[in-house]
Amino acid sequence: HAPSPFLAPSSKTQPNTLAIISLSKDNFQPITLQQSAGAVDGYAEGVTLNTRFGSFPHSTLLDVPWGSQVRASVVDTGSRGRKRRRGEVEDEETPTSNADDGNDTPGSAPAKKAIVAASGFVYVLRPTPELWTSSLPHRTQVVYTPDYSYVLQRIRARPGSRIIEAGAGSGSFTHASARAVYNGYPKSDTDVKGKVFSFEFHEPRFQKMQVEIKDHLLDGVVQVTHRDVCDGGFIVDGKSPKANAIFLDLPAPWEALHHLSRRKTLKEGKLDENPGDWVSPLDPDQSVYICTFSPCIEQVTRTVTELRTLGWTDIDMVEIAHRRLNIMRDRAGVSTAPTDVTEAVKKLKVDLKRTQEFHKAQISQPVSDASESKMDVDETTSTWTDKESGKNGDPSWIQGNVVHRTENDVKTHTSYLVFAILPREWDAAAEEAAMVKWPCGQ
Ligand code: SAM
Repeated sequence: HAPSPFLAPSSKTQPNTLAIISLSKDNFQPITLQQSAGAVDGYAEGVTLNTRFGSFPHSTLLDVPWGSQVRASVVDTGSRGRKRRRGEVEDEETPTSNADDGNDTPGSAPAKKAIVAASGFVYVLRPTPELWTSSLPHRTQVVYTPDYSYVLQRIRARPGSRIIEAGAGSGSFTHASARAVYNGYPKSDTDVKGKVFSFEFHEPRFQKMQVEIKDHLLDGVVQVTHRDVCDGGFIVDGKSPKANAIFLDLPAPWEALHHLSRRKTLKEGKLDENPGDWVSPLDPDQSVYICTFSPCIEQVTRTVTELRTLGWTDIDMVEIAHRRLNIMRDRAGVSTAPTDVTEAVKKLKVDLKRTQEFHKAQISQPVSDASESKMDVDETTSTWTDKESGKNGDPSWIQGNVVHRTENDVKTHTSYLVFAILPREWDAAAEEAAMVKWPCGQ
């Protein structure tokens, strides 16, 4: 099995693999890199990625180290270009430089107004679950990185874990959990490795998931099944997944829980004393950790009631309130607002000179001095103190105040996370086996 770029990445980009193109700080585009011989779709350079920052033939994105910056190419747009120049192509934006999109990376050249002279750049990034979550085609609400990071550590997902996930939705959680459990591809049917058993009852979403998992070379680690888990449970191809971790992102998780017992249960939630040939999807030798993900508290209470009835323990609920703080410096010397342009320019020149003098003084200091900052933060007031002069004031003319801003638009799917543990069953036979394995007193 060729290694998935999510699990065992190559050092350079390769044809027929996924790459995440970073157009700007928060704008990612997933593409499958293609090698093409000859012109494709009117482009003499072959398959070409067109963005508002210019044109990028895939040939320029291939065989470069992951993370490379690639500049837009002057491309021969052939008939397409002639049509565009005549105004007959309306659906493509005029390319600009990345600087227009808030990308503060130095080096972007100024915008030019013709596609053949576009001068922006992109970065070619190695696919990770985090980048996939930020760029995947949304078919449903998805679980975002702050939530799934927490969930995966709470359900003890690690290399070798066997996770049941329902529903698969857009596959955001699936990719993160695949990376968490991966400990190699199984070499035979009896070779048990970490695996994600994913379930989706919506046919088109199931189909798309299957294609995606195959394209991302994750099919040795993720198995997607088309099923309503509330009706059909979690047995796959007649065999138990032997799961030790479960994640349910379903509208009614309590309706699926009776399938996740060690023995079959009756509808009222009582254990069936005569399970017959029923097979449990759980690992009989390990405690099982579950998380359910629900936006409403009513869903939580129903889930918790059912978990209690079915013998789950250590039940608790968490909500992740993720906030990203942007720490930055204000522009130096802007404590009093200038009244006109001439005054503003004069002030900026003075500030610039002072800042340069300050930095020169810092550089000329002996190393031992420089390591101990001349400026201390007074933690109670968060103002800066000039230690040397003993002035406790606002030396913002030197460096600019340190400020922080919260980013309000950080996407998290605010849901309640219910966690619980189902201990392994313990009987006389298990006790005896344990005594043989770990005899008392030795
Ligand atoms: N966790 C996913 C992600 O990170 O992309 C998103 C899951 S989405 C919110 C919920 C999915 O569960 C939907 O795709 C829906 O079709 C599926 N679903 C709902 N009820 C189901 C059931 N009883 N059996 C299987 N899938 C179900």
